[in-house]
Amino acid sequence: MQDDFTYDLAVVGGGLAGLSLSIQLARSGHKVIVFEKEKYPFHRVCGEYISNESWDFLESLGVELRSLGVSHIKRLQVSDVHGNFFEQLLPLGGFGISRYKLDHQLAQLAKENNVTIHEQTRVNEISYKDNKFILATTNGDFEATFTAAGFGKRSNLDIKWKRSFATAKSNRLNNYIGIKYHIRCDFPNDLIALHNFKNGYCGLSKIEDDKYCLCYLTTAGNLQNSANDIKRMEQDILSANPHLKKIFGECEMLWKEPVTISQISFDKKSLIQDHVLMIGDAAGMITPLCGNGMSMALHASKIAAEQIQRCLKKKIPRQEMEKLYAKGWNKLFSDRMKAGRLLQKLMLNNWLISLTIRTGKIFPGMLRFMIRQTHGRPF
Ligand SMILES: Cc1cc2nc3c(=O)[nH]c(=O)nc-3n(C[C@H](O)[C@H](O)[C@H](O)COP(=O)(O)OP(=O)(O)OC[C@H]3O[C@@H](n4cnc5c(N)ncnc54)[C@H](O)[C@@H]3O)c2cc1C
Repeated sequence: MQDDFTYDLAVVGGGLAGLSLSIQLARSGHKVIVFEKEKYPFHRVCGEYISNESWDFLESLGVELRSLGVSHIKRLQVSDVHGNFFEQLLPLGGFGISRYKLDHQLAQLAKENNVTIHEQTRVNEISYKDNKFILATTNGDFEATFTAAGFGKRSNLDIKWKRSFATAKSNRLNNYIGIKYHIRCDFPNDLIALHNFKNGYCGLSKIEDDKYCLCYLTTAGNLQNSANDIKRMEQDILSANPHLKKIFGECEMLWKEPVTISQISFDKKSLIQDHVLMIGDAAGMITPLCGNGMSMALHASKIAAEQIQRCLKKKIPRQEMEKLYAKGWNKLFSDRMKAGRLLQKLMLNNWLISLTIRTGKIFPGMLRFMIRQTHGRPF
């Protein structure tokens, strides 16, 4: 292997977790490579609401959030399948920005910080031997001292490694689909709405320019019951909620077809796999209704960066680094993941959500408490 193909850190997947990790390592003088199977900029399924806990961190990476035209979101509206709703101030609040813009900006920053990015390059195999990794990609083989996997919800490597969530039979935690549109509509700038429908929920909030992100999560069963026809599912199932009927009936859809993703799993995942550090959704996915997966992906990159840097500086051995990363991840996120699963259970139970909306009106503190359980502090 030539020197040109040897790196301190290889990152598989250039989403939020992978790109932010690469910038931090490159800034401390290390040689970093990122492999991303797509070409920037591109759309991906995501509600595009980011908790304010990530604001300072993104700015510290060099992302100029204000000049990207983010929207500031302070209020949450939740409706049940019948359209009954209540509103609540969000404890910390957040901002809206498309992944198309944010990921592209992070990729640009990574390149400016001398990260090598191989776009349209899929990693097919990672092997670890003699304290080094060999990554076999569609663009040749590369060698690295450390490897982090930020390849998202589900990748070819999950299947190759036979990770338990990828081989598990369908259950209520592992067979969801996600669908996203950008739309124009008459809707407050500072509000995020979560509208329930049978076996799913749909978020709406403002992003940059005059656009809104409309994104929903539902079971694969809902789509199958609609003859695998998204439009039919939206008409028959989502539009039973009068808020969604109005949105799908009256708003301007900016794309001909939505972006979609399937086989989403909220099962527990391993944090280290054959010495590869798992970051972002690859380490575990919090239910989207928490609006916090992006912040967790960014925060995980920070704790991974700290430990990898210590190991590269020979302050701790590899084994200790892996242990400390897993410990740090569990301390920060384990309880949030549990709270997220509980919230999702509640959200997908029509009767319970109607009751919660009624009692939520009487006890607004209850929902604020539940939201807090799924969020962290600025980092
Ligand atoms: C329906 C839905 C709505 C959501 N809404 C929100 C929200 O409003 N707010 C929020 O905070 N979070 C939300 N999330 C969660 C959020 O999208 C994720 O937590 C976040 O994107 C995780 O970032 P990541 O970097 O781990 O993965 P990703 O952003 O998914 O990036 C992974 C990257 O890896 C690449 N890749 C995969 N395999 C390979 C390979 N073998 N080789 C090379 N590249 C590869 C992919 O192309 C991709 O670019 C939502 C999720 C869903 C499903």
